[in-house]
Amino acid sequence: APVGRVDLSQVLAGAVELTEARRREMGVSLDYAAPDGPVWVRGGEVRLGQVFVNLITNACDAMEGRDDRRLRMEVDGGARPEVRVADTGPGIEAPERIFDPFYTTKSVGGGEGLGLGLSISYGLVQSFGGTIRGLNAPEGGSVFTVVLEPWREED
Ligand code: ADP
Ligand code: MG
Repeated sequence: APVGRVDLSQVLAGAVELTEARRREMGVSLDYAAPDGPVWVRGGEVRLGQVFVNLITNACDAMEGRDDRRLRMEVDGGARPEVRVADTGPGIEAPERIFDPFYTTKSVGGGEGLGLGLSISYGLVQSFGGTIRGLNAPEGGSVFTVVLEPWREED
């Protein structure tokens, strides 16, 4: 699949829109300040969108049944564009396993819980020259960080 110049700002706006019903249904608030202008990165628009939809959906799942259900998304432009997706869920049980195919802590049945979202996301981000990691925040909850390659004209 082709890799080209993608506006991360546009991709995130799309992921926010695609997950709106889900967030509303789960009573999850979103704190997101969109960047002022475009943030050009190396990637594929639909595949990159998939990555953030996955992260947002996982965050919503993690916060199910909790009193405090807040999702925070932050973007840094610049030399090494970065997106952080943080939630107020219980945190990650086994951070070293979450990118393994079929690793899930969700009960299969509702269609969710196949354990493929993060392994697919890992491969996609890697194919764009970026990295993805997930860790437990000291203040609680989890934070996923996606670092991407800035778009360069010689690409
Ligand atoms: P699935 O969502 O189908 O379980 P994923 O590959 O998307 O598969 O995620 C794998 C596992 O990683 C989840 O089952 C969960 O245990 C853990 N995980 C992912 N995101 C979060 C999160 N935001 N908070 C806590 N655990 C998470
Ligand atoms: Mg998932």
